[in-house]
Amino acid sequence: MPKTPRWTRTLTDLRSSQDAYLDVVATGPGRSVAGALGLPAPVSLTRHEAGRPEKPRTVLVIADESSSADADALAQALSARGHDVRRDAQAVAEGSERIQAVLLVLSQAHGPSDLTAPSLSLGSVLRRLDRGARVVAVSRAAEGVAAGSAVAVSASAVEAGTESVRRNAARQGAVGLVRSLAQEMRGGATANGIVMADGVAVDAPSVLGGLDFLLSGRSAFVSGQFLPVTSEAGPASLAQAALGETPLEGRVIVVTGAARGIGEQIARLLHAQGAQVVPIDVPAAGDALAKLANAIGAASLPLDVTADDAGQRILEHCRTRFGRIDGIVHNAGITRDKMLANMDEGRFASVQAVNVEAPLRITQQLLADPLAQGLRVVGLASTSGIAGNRGQTNYAVSKAGVVGMVAALAPELAAGGGTANAVAPGFIETEMTAKIPMARRQVARRLNSLQQGGLPVDVAEAIAFLLSDAAAGISGQTLRVCGQNLVGA
Ligand code: NAD
Repeated sequence: MPKTPRWTRTLTDLRSSQDAYLDVVATGPGRSVAGALGLPAPVSLTRHEAGRPEKPRTVLVIADESSSADADALAQALSARGHDVRRDAQAVAEGSERIQAVLLVLSQAHGPSDLTAPSLSLGSVLRRLDRGARVVAVSRAAEGVAAGSAVAVSASAVEAGTESVRRNAARQGAVGLVRSLAQEMRGGATANGIVMADGVAVDAPSVLGGLDFLLSGRSAFVSGQFLPVTSEAGPASLAQAALGETPLEGRVIVVTGAARGIGEQIARLLHAQGAQVVPIDVPAAGDALAKLANAIGAASLPLDVTADDAGQRILEHCRTRFGRIDGIVHNAGITRDKMLANMDEGRFASVQAVNVEAPLRITQQLLADPLAQGLRVVGLASTSGIAGNRGQTNYAVSKAGVVGMVAALAPELAAGGGTANAVAPGFIETEMTAKIPMARRQVARRLNSLQQGGLPVDVAEAIAFLLSDAAAGISGQTLRVCGQNLVGA
């Protein structure tokens, strides 16, 4: 039998949903060729393996002068977690040892010029960073400016006076530093930030929990992003040690759209982290849903989330089987792309119905019942809902709507100890994105700082983190899992 010519095989690979280009350039001669031609040279990301605790990292802690006490507290917390903490940037820069992380503490910076020395110290050690290294900045949220990707803070909160104006400039300066540095990172390394609201201590549970997440392989596809810590809620035990491999032990968590793609991966990961998962999908996806439910020992609920009584049916299911419901992940979503000039009502309305109207209705139905006291809600937004995307006005309306939904739900849930957050994936390798024409798909994969598409598990990890006690002090936020998409905000 004649062999298929190599170019045809390559073309077939490129057409498939797998990223064949990444496989070719990740190592060996393919990598050298890509380098010589100035082509993108992504590396395979090192991800967390469920159930396998990660090795501690060598972490260099750098701070501006006024933040040194906060740096001491954080260095102590890192040591307590088993990390090997270094404090002397010059020794690291001049030595030959590789380090796996830098923690940049800028929490008390008074003015923009306070950022000069620590930024240059950080620059001096970048060549010493290992593959897959992490840079995490810890700073305070600037008033009047969106801390992360989405939430507006009232401008009236800005105090008058030169001191506070200078301080605000420094706080926002830290954001500029991280966003630019993330674009300069190589070898699968990432740079992110934790921004604390005023009044949140540097060793608050979600600052430390956020640090655990951002330093680990659980955040492999998160770069150039910020975790805003809005309160000190969360377990005191986080000061001593990171949450283990099963932080969701005993929780009952509903996942919609779980029959395939990102939803399936969310269900599997939450199960691996100890949760009792209730997977939901349309009755037509019953076989795939049943297969998943079997694999994770769950009782699935075939249900169209747009049904008027979807919330009631979820409550009934959880009440009779578990007597509780702790969280819901509104993952079910559809796209019906068309330029607005060619858009019809069916396409526009169906996308709103599934992606945002159903999560709104279901959440309100759940919150009306005492069983859902303290509910943890996670919505699926999209970078299209933040930066916009040609041909996706209907989808962007729905996904920006999810960002708005969680921001407004946060104060409502806070009274009962619940939280509401969203995750905004960029390009993730699923059946949904496999439908994008080959050439556009190849380009879309490279248009982020990590130069590759993310995997469903990357989104699942961020969601599991947001559902855990470690994120109890994070609410109303939207975390992008997009490898720092270079298009848009
Ligand atoms: P997918 O199409 O592979 O899976 C979506 C699942 O939702 C399917 O199993 C489908 O049957 C289910 N579903 C659709 N309508 C439903 C309804 N009315 N009731 C119940 N279930 C329903 O999609 P995916 O790529 O896994 O995306 C999952 C979520 O992530 C979606 O909300 C999507 O908008 C969002 N997202 C995906 C990407 C990406 O790159 N794949 C990027 C940004 C956001």
